[in-house]
Amino acid sequence: AADLPHVAESDPTAKALGYVEDAGRGGAKRKAGDVCSNCQFYTGGPSGYGPCQLFPGKSVNAKGWCVSHAAKKA
Ligand code: SF4
Repeated sequence: AADLPHVAESDPTAKALGYVEDAGRGGAKRKAGDVCSNCQFYTGGPSGYGPCQLFPGKSVNAKGWCVSHAAKKA
């Protein structure tokens, strides 16, 4: 999974979802503390890059964010 290409913010799906590499740039729709690494669609580790179910074949930044963020279930 570490070898998956990183999603570019310029990727059409990324743009549609407002994906940012740095969650701090997520804007008003982002809830404080939400990052890819605590999203239920993310299956990677706590840092670096990992797979997201919404971006098949690619990896997202653990510290990134998009509008589809949903908290991981406990
Ligand atoms: Fe990150 Fe979750 Fe959006 Fe995927 S769905 S890019 S893991 S916030």
